[in-house]
Amino acid sequence: MEHYDRAETWDRETIERVQLVRLKNTLRQALRSPFYKDLLGRAGVSPENMRNLADLRQIPFTSKEHLRAAYPYGLVSVAKDELVRFHASSGTTGTPVVVCHTQDDLDCWADLMARCMHMVGIRRGDVFQNIAGYGLFTGGLGIHSGAERLGCLTIPAGTGNTRRQVKLLRDMRVTALHIIPSYALYIGNALLEEGEDPRSLPPRIALVGAEPHTDEARRRIEDLLGLKAYNSYGLSEMNGPGVAFECLEQNGLHVWEDAYIAEIVDPDSGEPVPDGEQGELVMTTLCRRGMPIIRFRTRDLTCFLPGDCPCGRKHRRLARIAGRVDDMLIIKGCNIYPMQVEQILMSFREVGENYLIVLENEAGMDRMRVQVEVRSEYFVDDMRALTALQRKIANRLRDEILVTPKVDLVQQNSLPRAEGKAKRVEDRRHAGI
Ligand code: AMP
Ligand code: ZN
Repeated sequence: MEHYDRAETWDRETIERVQLVRLKNTLRQALRSPFYKDLLGRAGVSPENMRNLADLRQIPFTSKEHLRAAYPYGLVSVAKDELVRFHASSGTTGTPVVVCHTQDDLDCWADLMARCMHMVGIRRGDVFQNIAGYGLFTGGLGIHSGAERLGCLTIPAGTGNTRRQVKLLRDMRVTALHIIPSYALYIGNALLEEGEDPRSLPPRIALVGAEPHTDEARRRIEDLLGLKAYNSYGLSEMNGPGVAFECLEQNGLHVWEDAYIAEIVDPDSGEPVPDGEQGELVMTTLCRRGMPIIRFRTRDLTCFLPGDCPCGRKHRRLARIAGRVDDMLIIKGCNIYPMQVEQILMSFREVGENYLIVLENEAGMDRMRVQVEVRSEYFVDDMRALTALQRKIANRLRDEILVTPKVDLVQQNSLPRAEGKAKRVEDRRHAGI
């Protein structure tokens, strides 16, 4: 295995030994923040209590609500003048969740990110275009720093302006890029519409992540753009990107266990679930001094993939994120994940990339409407063909989610598109609309 650094090649025994040492250090550091001094104090937990990794379970969880309540500096564990940057999680309304970093924290993050990129074949000399927001969102500066650390010629392209993005990709002969999956599909289709071949774009590797997407959507990106796409997972509370990443096998995301402790728990009981069983991901930082976070409830649903990865790395693999604990929709008593709907929609070749699930309430009855963009070449004048397609999609969805949705077929590019992460669900049930 070609590796970026030693820790990438550690065996289980080494990983777990280092984790325990780093966990104790993290607790010692965290106790310097008002938040953890209080939380750990009340739970009666001290670094000395940690005799093995299972002792971690004595520590109470930290939630997003905790972080909001401690805004802005309640979890900071160093003197303020050691902090050099902060980021915030995206899409939050009201009080944001902010994470503050020291220079060492940023260095460690850049190395993790560089390790991810190296793992999928990106090297010094590659030209890397980062199509991500360069504001508080961590996908901008986070991935940027990793690419520079690796020695790539790094283009901070930012988001939007499809024409300019494409021009940069071509003119700079970009070999690798980072892009959110919905935008990758959008760019590819925009080129197709203009009669250009998106497969002729130079990049051979794409890092895709930051929003939930299915394996089907990934394969579409690969076919459309003629490249390999690797799933990148992270969240602001754990730095951002660089937490877990697919290797060349494209079968699960290695979570970097020298820098994090990952647990998967039953979202209701908080107890660990066995490998292979889905639960909520809970994460602990092991290499952060500015603002350590311990046992953070990500609300993301995944499982540990059992068995070893053929690539030889011993860092455990997470399955692709199946959804959020909190995006589960309940319609007529059925639990539904938007990703189930996407999976079905994407299996129809007539269906374009953009769709919207609208939840409505009619006279006390919940109703689900799925607005689906149909590719231009299939959006024909033949009503019979369209009605048949509509029925076929509705039936397939019913078989999967046990609720029959109303399916609206609309023209390509007619649904609103988000600037950042795609918005897939609109809940109008309680809005009085
Ligand atoms: P933020 O902190 O605003 O960047 O949001 C982090 C959240 O984005 C995570 O908790 C996930 O819900 C989602 N996310 C990030 N990367 C992925 C990915 N590769 N697949 C699915 N969801 C993701
Ligand atoms: Zn692997």
